[in-house]
Amino acid sequence: MSGPRIVRAPRGTELSTQGWQQEAALRMLQNNLDPEVAEHPEKLVVYGGTGKAARDWRSFDAMIRTLQTLKQDETMLVQSGRPVGVMQTHEWAPRVLIANSNLVGDWANWEEFRRLEALGLTMYGQMTAGSWIYIGTQGILQGTYETFAAVAAKKFGGTLAGTITLTAGLGGMGGAQPLAVTMNGGVVICIDVDPRAISRRIEHRYLDVKADSLAHAMQLATEARDKREPLSIGLLGNAAELLPQMLAEGAPIDIVTDQTSAHDPLAYLPVGIAFDEMATYAAEKPADFTLRARESMARHVEAMVGFMDAGAEVFDYGNSIRGEAQLAGYDRAFDFPGFVPAYIRPLFCEGKGPFRWAALSGEASDIHKTDKAILDLFPENESLHRWIKLAQDKVHFQGLPARICWLGYGERDKAGERFNDMVASGELAAPVVIGRDHLDCGSVASPYRETEAMLDGSDAIADWPLLNAMVNVASGASWVSIHHGGGVGMGRSLHAGQVTVADGTKLAGEKIRRVLTNDPGMGVIRHVDAGYDRADEIADERGVRIPMREG
Ligand code: NAD
Repeated sequence: MSGPRIVRAPRGTELSTQGWQQEAALRMLQNNLDPEVAEHPEKLVVYGGTGKAARDWRSFDAMIRTLQTLKQDETMLVQSGRPVGVMQTHEWAPRVLIANSNLVGDWANWEEFRRLEALGLTMYGQMTAGSWIYIGTQGILQGTYETFAAVAAKKFGGTLAGTITLTAGLGGMGGAQPLAVTMNGGVVICIDVDPRAISRRIEHRYLDVKADSLAHAMQLATEARDKREPLSIGLLGNAAELLPQMLAEGAPIDIVTDQTSAHDPLAYLPVGIAFDEMATYAAEKPADFTLRARESMARHVEAMVGFMDAGAEVFDYGNSIRGEAQLAGYDRAFDFPGFVPAYIRPLFCEGKGPFRWAALSGEASDIHKTDKAILDLFPENESLHRWIKLAQDKVHFQGLPARICWLGYGERDKAGERFNDMVASGELAAPVVIGRDHLDCGSVASPYRETEAMLDGSDAIADWPLLNAMVNVASGASWVSIHHGGGVGMGRSLHAGQVTVADGTKLAGEKIRRVLTNDPGMGVIRHVDAGYDRADEIADERGVRIPMREG
Protein backbone atom coordinates (compact mmCIF):
# COMPACT_ATOMS: atom_id res chain seq x y z
CA MET A 1 0.00 0.00 0.00
CA SER A 2 1.17 3.52 -0.77
CA GLY A 3 0.65 6.59 1.50
CA PRO A 4 -2.58 7.78 3.14
CA ARG A 5 -5.71 8.13 1.05
CA ILE A 6 -6.46 11.63 -0.18
CA VAL A 7 -10.15 12.46 -0.57
CA ARG A 8 -11.39 15.56 -2.36
CA ALA A 9 -14.88 16.36 -3.64
CA PRO A 10 -15.36 16.61 -7.41
CA ARG A 11 -16.13 20.09 -8.75
CA GLY A 12 -18.28 21.22 -11.69
CA THR A 13 -21.53 20.01 -13.15
CA GLU A 14 -20.75 16.45 -14.15
CA LEU A 15 -22.66 14.03 -11.92
CA SER A 16 -21.46 10.62 -10.80
CA THR A 17 -24.87 9.99 -9.18
CA GLN A 18 -28.51 9.96 -10.28
CA GLY A 19 -29.32 13.52 -9.15
CA TRP A 20 -28.05 16.61 -7.37
CA GLN A 21 -29.46 15.60 -3.96
CA GLN A 22 -27.33 12.45 -3.97
CA GLU A 23 -24.40 14.24 -5.62
CA ALA A 24 -24.48 16.90 -2.91
CA ALA A 25 -24.35 14.31 -0.13
CA LEU A 26 -21.50 12.53 -1.88
CA ARG A 27 -19.49 15.72 -2.42
CA MET A 28 -20.06 17.00 1.11
CA LEU A 29 -19.02 13.67 2.63
CA GLN A 30 -15.84 13.81 0.55
CA ASN A 31 -15.36 17.51 1.26
CA ASN A 32 -15.46 16.84 5.02
CA LEU A 33 -12.38 14.64 4.52
CA ASP A 34 -10.52 16.99 2.17
CA PRO A 35 -7.07 17.54 3.77
CA GLU A 36 -7.73 21.30 3.54
CA VAL A 37 -10.88 20.83 5.62
CA ALA A 38 -10.32 17.91 8.00
CA GLU A 39 -7.92 17.98 10.93
CA HIS A 40 -6.86 14.31 10.62
CA PRO A 41 -8.30 12.99 7.34
CA GLU A 42 -6.17 9.83 7.42
CA LYS A 43 -8.12 8.77 10.52
CA LEU A 44 -11.43 10.06 9.03
CA VAL A 45 -11.40 12.70 11.80
CA VAL A 46 -12.82 16.02 10.70
CA TYR A 47 -12.66 18.21 13.84
CA GLY A 48 -13.55 18.45 17.52
CA GLY A 49 -11.36 15.79 19.07
CA THR A 50 -12.46 12.58 17.32
CA GLY A 51 -15.44 13.83 15.29
CA LYS A 52 -15.55 11.56 12.22
CA ALA A 53 -17.25 11.62 8.82
CA ALA A 54 -17.41 7.83 8.44
CA ARG A 55 -16.80 4.92 10.79
CA ASP A 56 -13.96 3.37 8.78
CA TRP A 57 -12.71 3.34 5.19
CA ARG A 58 -14.83 0.32 4.29
CA SER A 59 -17.95 2.19 5.44
CA PHE A 60 -16.81 5.32 3.60
CA ASP A 61 -16.40 3.35 0.36
CA ALA A 62 -19.80 1.71 0.85
CA MET A 63 -21.46 5.11 1.36
CA ILE A 64 -19.87 6.52 -1.80
CA ARG A 65 -20.85 3.42 -3.80
CA THR A 66 -24.42 3.55 -2.47
CA LEU A 67 -24.84 7.27 -3.13
CA GLN A 68 -23.65 6.69 -6.70
CA THR A 69 -26.53 4.28 -7.37
CA LEU A 70 -29.17 5.75 -5.05
CA LYS A 71 -32.44 6.57 -6.85
CA GLN A 72 -34.62 9.69 -6.48
CA ASP A 73 -37.12 7.72 -4.38
CA GLU A 74 -34.61 5.97 -2.17
CA THR A 75 -33.08 6.80 1.19
CA MET A 76 -29.77 5.57 2.55
CA LEU A 77 -29.70 4.95 6.32
CA VAL A 78 -26.47 5.66 8.16
CA GLN A 79 -25.84 4.30 11.66
CA SER A 80 -22.83 5.99 13.26
CA GLY A 81 -20.88 6.43 10.06
CA ARG A 82 -21.79 3.14 8.41
CA PRO A 83 -24.49 2.67 5.74
CA VAL A 84 -26.86 0.01 7.03
CA GLY A 85 -29.75 0.02 4.58
CA VAL A 86 -31.45 1.54 1.56
CA MET A 87 -35.23 1.98 1.75
CA GLN A 88 -37.74 2.97 -0.88
CA THR A 89 -39.25 6.32 0.11
CA HIS A 90 -40.40 9.17 -2.19
CA GLU A 91 -39.05 12.29 -3.82
CA TRP A 92 -39.89 14.58 -0.89
CA ALA A 93 -38.05 12.31 1.55
CA PRO A 94 -34.41 12.92 2.50
CA ARG A 95 -31.90 10.94 0.43
CA VAL A 96 -29.90 10.20 3.58
CA LEU A 97 -30.95 9.73 7.21
CA ILE A 98 -28.17 9.70 9.78
CA ALA A 99 -28.03 8.73 13.46
CA ASN A 100 -24.61 9.12 15.11
CA SER A 101 -23.21 8.21 18.54
CA ASN A 102 -26.61 7.74 20.20
CA LEU A 103 -26.67 5.60 23.35
CA VAL A 104 -29.43 4.77 25.82
CA GLY A 105 -29.40 7.13 28.82
CA ASP A 106 -27.82 4.98 31.51
CA TRP A 107 -25.13 3.81 29.06
CA ALA A 108 -24.39 7.27 27.67
CA ASN A 109 -20.88 7.73 29.04
CA TRP A 110 -17.39 7.77 27.56
CA GLU A 111 -16.37 4.40 28.97
CA GLU A 112 -19.25 2.56 27.33
CA PHE A 113 -18.94 4.58 24.14
CA ARG A 114 -15.25 3.72 23.82
CA ARG A 115 -15.93 0.04 24.51
CA LEU A 116 -18.49 0.00 21.69
CA GLU A 117 -16.23 2.07 19.43
CA ALA A 118 -13.38 -0.39 19.97
CA LEU A 119 -15.73 -3.18 18.90
CA GLY A 120 -16.34 -1.22 15.68
CA LEU A 121 -20.00 -0.62 16.51
CA THR A 122 -20.16 3.17 16.67
CA MET A 123 -18.23 6.39 15.99
CA TYR A 124 -18.17 9.94 17.33
CA GLY A 125 -20.08 12.18 14.93
CA GLN A 126 -19.44 15.56 16.64
CA MET A 127 -21.95 17.99 15.13
CA THR A 128 -21.15 18.59 11.46
CA ALA A 129 -18.43 15.92 11.03
CA GLY A 130 -20.75 12.93 10.83
CA SER A 131 -23.49 14.94 9.14
CA TRP A 132 -21.29 16.20 6.29
CA ILE A 133 -21.68 19.95 6.54
CA TYR A 134 -18.41 21.01 8.16
CA ILE A 135 -16.89 23.82 6.10
CA GLY A 136 -13.58 24.32 7.88
CA THR A 137 -12.78 26.94 10.46
CA GLN A 138 -14.92 29.62 8.79
CA GLY A 139 -17.98 27.67 9.94
CA ILE A 140 -17.35 28.69 13.49
CA LEU A 141 -15.67 32.01 12.70
CA GLN A 142 -18.84 34.01 12.41
CA GLY A 143 -20.33 32.70 15.65
CA THR A 144 -17.06 33.37 17.42
CA TYR A 145 -16.84 36.83 15.87
CA GLU A 146 -20.39 37.62 17.04
CA THR A 147 -19.66 36.29 20.52
CA PHE A 148 -16.59 38.51 20.89
CA ALA A 149 -18.59 41.42 19.43
CA ALA A 150 -21.18 40.79 22.16
CA VAL A 151 -18.40 40.78 24.80
CA ALA A 152 -17.15 44.08 23.35
CA ALA A 153 -20.66 45.56 23.43
CA LYS A 154 -21.31 44.37 26.97
CA LYS A 155 -18.09 45.45 28.60
CA PHE A 156 -15.70 47.40 26.38
CA GLY A 157 -17.76 50.08 24.62
CA GLY A 158 -18.34 48.13 21.40
CA THR A 159 -14.74 47.30 20.45
CA LEU A 160 -11.97 45.05 21.72
CA ALA A 161 -9.32 47.64 20.76
CA GLY A 162 -7.05 48.16 23.77
CA THR A 163 -7.87 44.78 25.35
CA ILE A 164 -6.05 41.44 25.67
CA THR A 165 -7.92 38.14 25.41
CA LEU A 166 -6.39 34.90 26.65
CA THR A 167 -7.54 31.54 25.32
CA ALA A 168 -6.31 28.07 24.38
CA GLY A 169 -7.03 25.60 21.60
CA LEU A 170 -6.17 26.32 17.97
CA GLY A 171 -7.87 23.26 16.51
CA GLY A 172 -10.53 23.04 13.81
CA MET A 173 -12.93 25.33 15.61
CA GLY A 174 -10.75 26.96 18.25
CA GLY A 175 -8.59 28.19 15.37
CA ALA A 176 -11.29 30.77 14.60
CA GLN A 177 -10.63 32.59 17.88
CA PRO A 178 -7.57 34.65 16.89
CA LEU A 179 -9.23 36.02 13.76
CA ALA A 180 -12.54 36.63 15.54
CA VAL A 181 -10.76 38.73 18.18
CA THR A 182 -8.65 40.74 15.71
CA MET A 183 -11.76 41.33 13.55
CA ASN A 184 -13.15 43.01 16.68
CA GLY A 185 -10.00 45.11 17.02
CA GLY A 186 -8.44 43.23 19.96
CA VAL A 187 -5.22 41.47 20.92
CA VAL A 188 -5.31 37.77 21.73
CA ILE A 189 -2.88 35.19 23.09
CA CYS A 190 -3.80 31.66 21.97
CA ILE A 191 -2.10 28.72 23.68
CA ASP A 192 -1.83 25.29 22.07
CA VAL A 193 0.30 22.24 22.87
CA ASP A 194 0.50 21.23 19.22
CA PRO A 195 3.03 23.21 17.13
CA ARG A 196 1.25 22.01 13.98
CA ALA A 197 -2.01 23.66 15.11
CA ILE A 198 -0.15 26.99 15.48
CA SER A 199 1.59 26.81 12.10
CA ARG A 200 -1.62 25.69 10.36
CA ARG A 201 -3.52 28.74 11.66
CA ILE A 202 -0.70 31.04 10.54
CA GLU A 203 -0.71 29.38 7.12
CA HIS A 204 -4.48 29.91 6.83
CA ARG A 205 -4.13 33.55 7.93
CA TYR A 206 -6.27 33.05 11.05
CA LEU A 207 -3.29 33.71 13.35
CA ASP A 208 -0.75 36.52 12.92
CA VAL A 209 2.43 35.48 14.75
CA LYS A 210 4.00 32.84 16.97
CA ALA A 211 5.72 33.95 20.19
CA ASP A 212 9.01 32.35 21.30
CA SER A 213 8.07 32.31 24.98
CA LEU A 214 5.46 33.50 27.46
CA ALA A 215 7.48 36.66 28.12
CA HIS A 216 7.68 37.34 24.38
CA ALA A 217 3.92 36.78 24.02
CA MET A 218 3.20 39.26 26.83
CA GLN A 219 5.56 41.82 25.33
CA LEU A 220 3.96 41.56 21.88
CA ALA A 221 0.48 41.67 23.43
CA THR A 222 0.98 44.71 25.66
CA GLU A 223 2.72 46.69 22.88
CA ALA A 224 -0.13 46.06 20.44
CA ARG A 225 -2.73 46.75 23.13
CA ASP A 226 -1.11 50.08 24.00
CA LYS A 227 -1.17 51.10 20.33
CA ARG A 228 -4.79 49.83 20.14
CA GLU A 229 -3.76 47.62 17.23
CA PRO A 230 -5.25 44.18 16.61
CA LEU A 231 -2.81 41.26 16.93
CA SER A 232 -3.13 37.51 17.42
CA ILE A 233 -0.27 35.62 19.04
CA GLY A 234 0.23 31.84 19.13
CA LEU A 235 1.98 30.46 22.21
CA LEU A 236 3.20 26.87 22.45
CA GLY A 237 2.49 25.23 25.79
CA ASN A 238 -0.01 23.58 28.07
CA ALA A 239 -2.87 25.86 29.14
CA ALA A 240 -3.14 24.11 32.50
CA GLU A 241 0.43 25.20 33.21
CA LEU A 242 0.52 28.59 31.51
CA LEU A 243 -2.77 30.06 32.79
CA PRO A 244 -1.93 29.59 36.50
CA GLN A 245 1.56 31.00 35.79
CA MET A 246 0.13 34.06 34.03
CA LEU A 247 -2.38 34.61 36.84
CA ALA A 248 0.39 34.39 39.43
CA GLU A 249 2.48 36.88 37.45
CA GLY A 250 -0.46 39.31 37.34
CA ALA A 251 -0.76 39.27 33.53
CA PRO A 252 -3.07 42.13 32.46
CA ILE A 253 -5.76 40.01 30.82
CA ASP A 254 -9.22 41.44 30.07
CA ILE A 255 -11.09 38.45 28.65
CA VAL A 256 -10.56 34.70 29.17
CA THR A 257 -12.13 31.71 27.47
CA ASP A 258 -11.02 28.32 26.18
CA GLN A 259 -11.46 26.00 23.23
CA THR A 260 -9.27 23.01 23.93
CA SER A 261 -11.10 19.72 23.30
CA ALA A 262 -12.05 19.50 26.95
CA HIS A 263 -15.35 17.78 26.15
CA ASP A 264 -13.28 14.63 25.51
CA PRO A 265 -10.82 14.01 28.36
CA LEU A 266 -8.69 11.87 26.04
CA ALA A 267 -8.18 14.89 23.76
CA TYR A 268 -6.99 17.31 26.48
CA LEU A 269 -3.29 17.03 27.28
CA PRO A 270 -2.65 16.72 31.03
CA VAL A 271 0.30 18.50 32.63
CA GLY A 272 3.31 16.19 32.87
CA ILE A 273 2.71 14.25 29.66
CA ALA A 274 4.69 15.30 26.59
CA PHE A 275 2.67 16.21 23.51
CA ASP A 276 4.46 13.55 21.45
CA GLU A 277 3.40 10.87 23.94
CA MET A 278 -0.22 12.01 24.16
CA ALA A 279 -1.78 9.61 21.62
CA THR A 280 0.02 6.51 22.88
CA TYR A 281 -0.61 7.33 26.53
CA ALA A 282 -4.32 8.00 25.90
CA ALA A 283 -4.67 4.75 23.95
CA GLU A 284 -2.76 2.60 26.43
CA LYS A 285 -3.97 4.05 29.74
CA PRO A 286 -7.30 5.78 29.06
CA ALA A 287 -8.51 5.72 32.69
CA ASP A 288 -5.27 7.17 34.06
CA PHE A 289 -5.10 9.73 31.24
CA THR A 290 -8.72 10.81 31.96
CA LEU A 291 -8.01 11.33 35.67
CA ARG A 292 -4.92 13.37 34.92
CA ALA A 293 -6.68 15.38 32.20
CA ARG A 294 -9.52 16.26 34.57
CA GLU A 295 -7.07 17.24 37.29
CA SER A 296 -5.29 19.56 34.82
CA MET A 297 -8.61 20.99 33.67
CA ALA A 298 -9.42 21.77 37.30
CA ARG A 299 -6.17 23.81 37.54
CA HIS A 300 -6.96 25.47 34.21
CA VAL A 301 -10.50 26.43 35.30
CA GLU A 302 -9.24 27.54 38.72
CA ALA A 303 -6.98 30.01 36.94
CA MET A 304 -9.92 31.18 34.80
CA VAL A 305 -11.90 31.83 37.99
CA GLY A 306 -8.83 33.66 39.36
CA PHE A 307 -8.83 35.96 36.33
CA MET A 308 -12.57 36.52 36.85
CA ASP A 309 -11.97 37.44 40.49
CA ALA A 310 -9.34 39.89 39.26
CA GLY A 311 -11.97 41.59 37.07
CA ALA A 312 -11.69 39.86 33.68
CA GLU A 313 -14.70 38.88 31.57
CA VAL A 314 -14.61 35.06 31.64
CA PHE A 315 -16.86 32.59 29.85
CA ASP A 316 -16.97 28.94 28.85
CA TYR A 317 -17.02 28.53 25.08
CA GLY A 318 -19.04 25.34 25.00
CA ASN A 319 -16.37 22.68 25.50
CA SER A 320 -17.52 21.37 28.90
CA ILE A 321 -14.33 22.41 30.66
CA ARG A 322 -16.36 23.51 33.70
CA GLY A 323 -18.08 20.12 33.92
CA GLU A 324 -14.78 18.25 33.66
CA ALA A 325 -13.14 20.48 36.29
CA GLN A 326 -16.08 19.86 38.59
CA LEU A 327 -15.65 16.10 38.12
CA ALA A 328 -12.10 16.56 39.37
CA GLY A 329 -13.51 18.11 42.54
CA TYR A 330 -13.05 21.82 41.80
CA ASP A 331 -16.13 23.39 43.36
CA ARG A 332 -16.06 26.88 41.79
CA ALA A 333 -16.08 25.57 38.21
CA PHE A 334 -19.50 26.99 37.43
CA ASP A 335 -18.77 30.45 38.83
CA PHE A 336 -18.44 31.82 35.29
CA PRO A 337 -21.21 31.43 32.70
CA GLY A 338 -21.42 29.65 29.39
CA PHE A 339 -21.45 31.84 26.28
CA VAL A 340 -25.05 31.06 25.31
CA PRO A 341 -26.83 32.47 28.37
CA ALA A 342 -24.21 35.24 28.54
CA TYR A 343 -24.48 36.46 24.94
CA ILE A 344 -26.36 34.29 22.42
CA ARG A 345 -29.81 33.44 23.79
CA PRO A 346 -31.54 36.65 22.60
CA LEU A 347 -30.51 35.68 19.05
CA PHE A 348 -31.93 32.16 19.52
CA CYS A 349 -35.27 33.72 20.51
CA GLU A 350 -35.40 35.25 17.01
CA GLY A 351 -34.72 31.91 15.37
CA LYS A 352 -31.21 33.14 14.55
CA GLY A 353 -28.42 30.69 14.03
CA PRO A 354 -25.51 29.58 11.87
CA PHE A 355 -26.93 29.41 8.35
CA ARG A 356 -24.25 28.20 5.93
CA TRP A 357 -23.90 27.18 2.33
CA ALA A 358 -21.30 25.65 0.01
CA ALA A 359 -20.82 25.92 -3.75
CA LEU A 360 -20.81 22.49 -5.39
CA SER A 361 -19.24 24.04 -8.48
CA GLY A 362 -16.06 24.58 -6.47
CA GLU A 363 -15.93 28.15 -7.79
CA ALA A 364 -15.26 31.01 -5.40
CA SER A 365 -17.24 33.31 -7.74
CA ASP A 366 -20.43 31.43 -6.84
CA ILE A 367 -19.92 32.34 -3.20
CA HIS A 368 -19.17 35.95 -4.07
CA LYS A 369 -22.43 36.12 -6.02
CA THR A 370 -24.38 34.64 -3.11
CA ASP A 371 -22.65 37.11 -0.75
CA LYS A 372 -23.98 39.92 -2.90
CA ALA A 373 -27.46 38.36 -2.87
CA ILE A 374 -27.37 38.31 0.95
CA LEU A 375 -26.29 41.95 1.10
CA ASP A 376 -29.10 42.91 -1.30
CA LEU A 377 -31.72 40.88 0.57
CA PHE A 378 -30.98 42.40 3.97
CA PRO A 379 -29.85 46.00 3.30
CA GLU A 380 -30.75 47.17 6.82
CA ASN A 381 -28.73 44.55 8.70
CA GLU A 382 -25.49 46.39 9.49
CA SER A 383 -23.68 43.66 11.40
CA LEU A 384 -24.44 41.19 8.61
CA HIS A 385 -22.95 43.61 6.07
CA ARG A 386 -19.89 44.13 8.26
CA TRP A 387 -19.44 40.38 8.62
CA ILE A 388 -19.79 39.53 4.90
CA LYS A 389 -17.27 42.21 3.96
CA LEU A 390 -14.78 41.09 6.61
CA ALA A 391 -15.24 37.47 5.57
CA GLN A 392 -14.60 38.29 1.92
CA ASP A 393 -11.44 40.06 2.91
CA LYS A 394 -10.08 37.67 5.53
CA VAL A 395 -11.49 34.19 5.02
CA HIS A 396 -9.42 31.63 3.23
CA PHE A 397 -11.74 28.99 1.72
CA GLN A 398 -11.01 25.40 2.76
CA GLY A 399 -12.28 22.72 0.38
CA LEU A 400 -15.45 23.66 -1.50
CA PRO A 401 -15.97 27.43 -1.23
CA ALA A 402 -18.53 28.16 1.46
CA ARG A 403 -20.00 30.95 3.52
CA ILE A 404 -21.72 31.31 6.85
CA CYS A 405 -23.84 34.04 8.35
CA TRP A 406 -26.36 34.08 11.16
CA LEU A 407 -29.93 34.52 9.88
CA GLY A 408 -33.23 34.28 11.72
CA TYR A 409 -36.80 33.14 11.25
CA GLY A 410 -38.21 34.69 8.08
CA GLU A 411 -34.73 35.34 6.68
CA ARG A 412 -33.23 31.91 6.01
CA ASP A 413 -36.05 30.88 3.65
CA LYS A 414 -35.67 34.12 1.68
CA ALA A 415 -31.94 33.53 1.23
CA GLY A 416 -32.46 29.89 0.30
CA GLU A 417 -35.11 30.64 -2.29
CA ARG A 418 -32.94 33.36 -3.81
CA PHE A 419 -30.02 30.94 -4.11
CA ASN A 420 -32.28 28.39 -5.77
CA ASP A 421 -33.44 31.02 -8.29
CA MET A 422 -29.80 31.89 -8.98
CA VAL A 423 -29.06 28.24 -9.74
CA ALA A 424 -32.16 28.03 -11.97
CA SER A 425 -31.20 31.12 -13.97
CA GLY A 426 -27.64 29.91 -14.51
CA GLU A 427 -26.20 32.82 -12.52
CA LEU A 428 -24.45 30.24 -10.33
CA ALA A 429 -22.28 27.63 -12.04
CA ALA A 430 -23.81 24.70 -10.11
CA PRO A 431 -26.19 23.96 -7.20
CA VAL A 432 -25.42 24.98 -3.64
CA VAL A 433 -26.03 23.06 -0.42
CA ILE A 434 -27.64 24.94 2.43
CA GLY A 435 -27.20 23.64 5.95
CA ARG A 436 -26.21 24.73 9.40
CA ASP A 437 -24.33 23.77 12.50
CA HIS A 438 -26.22 21.61 14.99
CA LEU A 439 -25.49 24.47 17.40
CA ASP A 440 -28.69 26.29 16.50
CA CYS A 441 -31.69 27.86 18.16
CA GLY A 442 -34.09 24.92 18.17
CA SER A 443 -32.04 21.84 17.40
CA VAL A 444 -30.11 21.09 20.59
CA ALA A 445 -30.61 19.96 24.15
CA SER A 446 -27.32 20.69 25.92
CA PRO A 447 -27.48 21.82 29.56
CA TYR A 448 -23.84 23.04 29.58
CA ARG A 449 -24.20 25.00 26.36
CA GLU A 450 -27.16 25.83 24.12
CA THR A 451 -29.79 25.16 26.79
CA GLU A 452 -27.82 26.20 29.87
CA ALA A 453 -29.93 28.09 32.41
CA MET A 454 -33.19 28.11 30.45
CA LEU A 455 -35.80 30.37 32.02
CA ASP A 456 -38.17 27.51 32.86
CA GLY A 457 -35.46 25.06 33.94
CA SER A 458 -35.99 22.84 30.87
CA ASP A 459 -32.23 22.58 30.14
CA ALA A 460 -32.14 18.78 29.87
CA ILE A 461 -35.41 18.23 28.00
CA ALA A 462 -34.32 16.46 24.81
CA ASP A 463 -37.65 16.27 22.95
CA TRP A 464 -36.80 19.44 21.02
CA PRO A 465 -33.92 18.17 18.85
CA LEU A 466 -35.93 15.06 18.03
CA LEU A 467 -38.91 17.17 16.95
CA ASN A 468 -36.49 19.32 14.98
CA ALA A 469 -35.16 16.32 13.06
CA MET A 470 -38.66 15.03 12.41
CA VAL A 471 -39.93 18.38 11.16
CA ASN A 472 -36.96 18.64 8.79
CA VAL A 473 -37.67 15.17 7.43
CA ALA A 474 -41.33 16.10 7.01
CA SER A 475 -40.44 19.38 5.30
CA GLY A 476 -38.21 17.98 2.56
CA ALA A 477 -34.58 18.34 3.69
CA SER A 478 -32.01 16.46 1.59
CA TRP A 479 -30.32 14.84 4.57
CA VAL A 480 -31.16 14.89 8.26
CA SER A 481 -29.14 13.75 11.25
CA ILE A 482 -29.64 13.08 14.97
CA HIS A 483 -26.48 13.01 17.08
CA HIS A 484 -25.48 12.57 20.69
CA GLY A 485 -22.48 14.11 22.42
CA GLY A 486 -21.27 16.70 19.92
CA GLY A 487 -19.17 19.52 21.28
CA VAL A 488 -19.86 18.82 24.96
CA GLY A 489 -19.33 15.07 25.08
CA MET A 490 -21.09 11.85 25.92
CA GLY A 491 -24.22 12.08 28.00
CA ARG A 492 -24.39 15.85 27.74
CA SER A 493 -26.31 16.67 24.57
CA LEU A 494 -28.65 15.53 21.82
CA HIS A 495 -28.80 17.54 18.62
CA ALA A 496 -30.07 17.47 15.07
CA GLY A 497 -29.01 18.82 11.70
CA GLN A 498 -30.33 19.27 8.20
CA VAL A 499 -28.88 20.05 4.79
CA THR A 500 -31.04 21.02 1.82
CA VAL A 501 -29.87 21.25 -1.77
CA ALA A 502 -30.74 24.21 -3.98
CA ASP A 503 -30.54 22.57 -7.40
CA GLY A 504 -32.62 25.18 -9.20
CA THR A 505 -35.73 23.02 -9.61
CA LYS A 506 -39.23 24.09 -8.60
CA LEU A 507 -39.37 21.12 -6.24
CA ALA A 508 -36.18 22.21 -4.49
CA GLY A 509 -37.66 25.71 -4.11
CA GLU A 510 -40.74 24.24 -2.39
CA LYS A 511 -38.62 22.13 -0.06
CA ILE A 512 -36.30 25.01 0.76
CA ARG A 513 -39.21 27.29 1.66
CA ARG A 514 -40.62 24.75 4.12
CA VAL A 515 -37.33 23.54 5.63
CA LEU A 516 -35.82 26.97 6.06
CA THR A 517 -39.02 28.26 7.67
CA ASN A 518 -39.73 25.31 9.95
CA ASP A 519 -36.15 24.65 11.04
CA PRO A 520 -35.57 28.10 12.61
CA GLY A 521 -39.26 28.06 13.61
CA MET A 522 -38.26 25.36 16.10
CA GLY A 523 -36.01 27.91 17.77
CA VAL A 524 -38.83 30.40 18.16
CA ILE A 525 -41.29 27.87 19.58
CA ARG A 526 -38.67 26.33 21.88
CA HIS A 527 -37.99 29.72 23.44
CA VAL A 528 -41.68 30.72 23.56
CA ASP A 529 -42.31 27.49 25.43
CA ALA A 530 -39.53 28.32 27.88
CA GLY A 531 -41.07 31.72 28.60
CA TYR A 532 -38.83 34.19 26.72
CA ASP A 533 -40.65 37.46 25.94
CA ARG A 534 -38.47 38.16 22.92
CA ALA A 535 -39.55 34.84 21.37
CA ASP A 536 -43.21 35.77 22.03
CA GLU A 537 -42.68 39.05 20.19
CA ILE A 538 -41.08 37.28 17.22
CA ALA A 539 -43.89 34.70 17.10
CA ASP A 540 -46.49 37.52 17.04
CA GLU A 541 -44.59 39.68 14.57
CA ARG A 542 -43.77 36.90 12.12
CA GLY A 543 -46.85 34.70 12.51
CA VAL A 544 -45.48 31.57 14.18
CA ARG A 545 -48.43 29.47 15.40
CA ILE A 546 -48.19 28.37 19.03
CA PRO A 547 -51.27 26.34 20.04
CA MET A 548 -50.94 27.07 23.76
CA ARG A 549 -51.12 30.81 23.06
CA GLU A 550 -54.28 30.49 20.93
CA GLY A 551 -57.83 30.50 22.30
P1 NAD B 1 -9.66 20.17 18.07
O1 NAD B 1 -9.58 18.83 18.69
O2 NAD B 1 -9.54 20.32 16.59
O3 NAD B 1 -8.60 21.16 18.75
C1 NAD B 1 -8.32 21.19 20.14
C2 NAD B 1 -6.95 21.81 20.34
O4 NAD B 1 -6.69 21.87 21.74
C3 NAD B 1 -5.82 21.01 19.70
O5 NAD B 1 -5.10 21.82 18.81
C4 NAD B 1 -4.99 20.54 20.90
O6 NAD B 1 -3.62 20.48 20.59
C5 NAD B 1 -5.29 21.60 21.93
N1 NAD B 1 -5.06 21.17 23.32
C6 NAD B 1 -5.40 20.01 23.92
N2 NAD B 1 -5.04 20.01 25.20
C7 NAD B 1 -4.45 21.21 25.44
C8 NAD B 1 -3.88 21.81 26.58
N3 NAD B 1 -3.85 21.19 27.77
N4 NAD B 1 -3.35 23.06 26.46
C9 NAD B 1 -3.36 23.71 25.27
N5 NAD B 1 -3.88 23.18 24.16
C10 NAD B 1 -4.45 21.96 24.24
O7 NAD B 1 -11.06 20.77 18.56
P2 NAD B 1 -11.91 22.01 18.00
O8 NAD B 1 -12.71 21.60 16.83
O9 NAD B 1 -11.05 23.21 17.86
O10 NAD B 1 -12.90 22.23 19.23
C11 NAD B 1 -12.40 22.55 20.52
C12 NAD B 1 -13.45 22.50 21.59
O11 NAD B 1 -14.27 23.65 21.58
C13 NAD B 1 -14.39 21.31 21.50
O12 NAD B 1 -14.65 20.84 22.79
C14 NAD B 1 -15.60 21.89 20.87
O13 NAD B 1 -16.75 21.17 21.14
C15 NAD B 1 -15.63 23.26 21.49
N6 NAD B 1 -16.28 24.28 20.70
C16 NAD B 1 -17.46 24.78 21.05
C17 NAD B 1 -18.03 25.77 20.30
C18 NAD B 1 -19.29 26.37 20.66
O14 NAD B 1 -19.91 26.01 21.58
N7 NAD B 1 -19.68 27.34 19.90
C19 NAD B 1 -17.43 26.25 19.20
C20 NAD B 1 -16.24 25.74 18.85
C21 NAD B 1 -15.66 24.75 19.62
